Amino acid sequence: MMANTIAIVGRPNVGKSTLFNRLVGERKAIMDNESGVTRDRHYGYGDWCEKFFTVIDTGGYVHGSEDIFEGEIRKQVELAIKEADVILFMVDVDAGLTGLDQEFADVLRRTDKPIYIVANKADTHARGHMAGEFYALGFESEIFPVSSQNGSGTGELLDEVVKHFKEEGIENPDQGIPRIAVVGRPNVGKSSFVNLLLGEDRNIVTDIAGTTRDSIHSHYNAYGKEFILVDTAGLRRKAKVHEDIEFYSVLRSIRALEESDVVVVMLDATRGIESQDLNIIGLADKNRKGLVILVNKWDLVEKETNTMKMLEDAIRERIAPIAYPPIIFISVLTKQRVHKAMEKAIEVYENKKTKIPTSKLNEVLLAEIERYPPPAIKGKFIKIKYVTQLPTNTPTFAFFCNLPQYIKDQYSRWLEKRIRENFGFEGVPVNILYRKK
Ligand code: GDP
Ligand code: GDP
Repeated sequence: MMANTIAIVGRPNVGKSTLFNRLVGERKAIMDNESGVTRDRHYGYGDWCEKFFTVIDTGGYVHGSEDIFEGEIRKQVELAIKEADVILFMVDVDAGLTGLDQEFADVLRRTDKPIYIVANKADTHARGHMAGEFYALGFESEIFPVSSQNGSGTGELLDEVVKHFKEEGIENPDQGIPRIAVVGRPNVGKSSFVNLLLGEDRNIVTDIAGTTRDSIHSHYNAYGKEFILVDTAGLRRKAKVHEDIEFYSVLRSIRALEESDVVVVMLDATRGIESQDLNIIGLADKNRKGLVILVNKWDLVEKETNTMKMLEDAIRERIAPIAYPPIIFISVLTKQRVHKAMEKAIEVYENKKTKIPTSKLNEVLLAEIERYPPPAIKGKFIKIKYVTQLPTNTPTFAFFCNLPQYIKDQYSRWLEKRIRENFGFEGVPVNILYRKK
């Protein structure tokens, strides 16, 4: 569970999402109610009095009609109870106490987590006084009249709420969790793959905002690992409108790619690699993302002893000089190697973060370089004296030498191979720089 989590529960229309938006302020999830791109977002991050917190609008998980069922109330409340440290039970002073409020109260009474009754739409002082009737709900806590619309009372409420947070909290709880995008041409099996992954061990932690209004990132726990699937759902819906599925699928892939750490490019084994795939792979490389290639529908391929090897070689030839991505043959249909594929994606993320100690780098690489130094140019000898990995997001190695300008790309490719041979970095682009020393 994330630290410092507030959940807002209550019947439809009391103002939950309005309060949500106020609490999460600038860092809110996508608020886009334009037709076509709506997807309720229920998660955001806020802070108050130097404490960071996460807010869940549980209402987004339940259909927003007035006649909701007991089962839905329970679902909403259970989510809140499970995930939150503090629960805000919202009611509406304008409408007064309703039967549905009572039903929520009955379910909420089963937890001993702190619950605050938030009497919303108390836009004026006079209306604030009407909040008293909610004492009839029988909760011990004070009632907080607020106006989510104009903000009055929300500060007093937060003052109380944050008292329950012992820690300062995390400004961006998603940091350090791999963001994985599954991209590929239409029909290769992306949605089947994602559904299969999530069907097993499914545990959606939450939907969170992407950095663009067209994306939603879902936070999952599967196979004992946390990860975020980058989903550009908004663009998918638009595609239907414009009926230009191919075009939007490219656009979606690009967006998803930009927002992820690791790009999983899915191919169809029966079709091989096509130019659009090459573009995406090239773009992932250019953006210095982790990369995994999955060849799906392996079940449809007639196999002889070395079919896989031949297909892999053919793909490697097409993607050259990009040589680092793992290529895994899977079948979503028969579940073959699906687990491995996901593990690989997470491993690639870890590889991207790997830092090799300078002493180790020098010990290994200087010996390699001594065996095969950069060729002399115009009678000048190039001497590499020292190597270190820079503290960057993409593994970057700086080689200090006397004549950096004379080292050829070919030598860099050789060095890259030695780095990969000795230290791995599978699936990850590496940068090589020369500095004058
Ligand atoms: P939810 O269904 O509980 O998420 O409710 P919404 O946040 O969508 O709000 C329902 C309606 O109440 C919207 O028309 C809001 O503009 C309105 N509303 C929300 N908060 C306030 C408030 O503090 N005062 C008033 N007057 N209206 C509010
Ligand atoms: P998307 O457009 O990339 O999301 O592709 P879908 O997941 O919608 O899959 C397209 C079609 O391929 C569907 O009919 C799937 O049932 C089928 N499909 C997906 N994975 C496999 C597989 O591993 N083997 C076979 N034979 N069919 C698959």
